[in-house]
Amino acid sequence: MTANNATADWEPAAAALLDELIAVGKDAVDRGLVLASAGNMSVRIGADRFAVTASGTWFDRLTRDDFAVLNLAGEQLSGPAPSSEWKLHQRAYQAREDINCVLHLHPHTATLLASLGRRIRLITLDHAFYVGSVGVSPFYPNGSDELAAAAAAQLAEHNCVIMQHHGCSVVADTAQMAFRRAMNLEDAAKMTLSALTIGDETTEFPAGAAFHA
Ligand SMILES: [Zn+2]
Repeated sequence: MTANNATADWEPAAAALLDELIAVGKDAVDRGLVLASAGNMSVRIGADRFAVTASGTWFDRLTRDDFAVLNLAGEQLSGPAPSSEWKLHQRAYQAREDINCVLHLHPHTATLLASLGRRIRLITLDHAFYVGSVGVSPFYPNGSDELAAAAAAQLAEHNCVIMQHHGCSVVADTAQMAFRRAMNLEDAAKMTLSALTIGDETTEFPAGAAFHA
């Protein structure tokens, strides 16, 4: 991979997707889902390419110049050096043709519970609707092929996966949906932790409950 400093000329559709992701970055910081420059995010901007946040960027200070463009083979096409965790994004898009956004965050409570080996329970209708199910993958070093492969394997069955002792990847067809998923994942983790503190080990959203539009 070679980084270059050329500022990408974004197609209008890609620019709009980036602006949506930039707004999500601000919201994620405002809601306490991001600590300092931890985490990274990406959006698919073509059948074979995605834009991912550059190394060391802060979620609430992003501009379009803070995104690197890579193809699904992992070759950089333009922009600054990508996040060291770009393989998480590459492998996610390879694994899921239906997704257009990957948010990789380090949410406090979800990461804690998964690292302790505690299952995150879905308690509310929103948890069931937005999160659906939660995959967990074991710890592997940051930026490694093993980490990206283990997370992508979980994404085959889940839209939310937590990498133990690290953070989560949440995927969706749009950035807004991915963000709602990520917020509800952390909310489910907080409610699970609250339930555990009062001695409840079993309560969760009723299985098979119907959704009404
Ligand atoms: Zn990370």
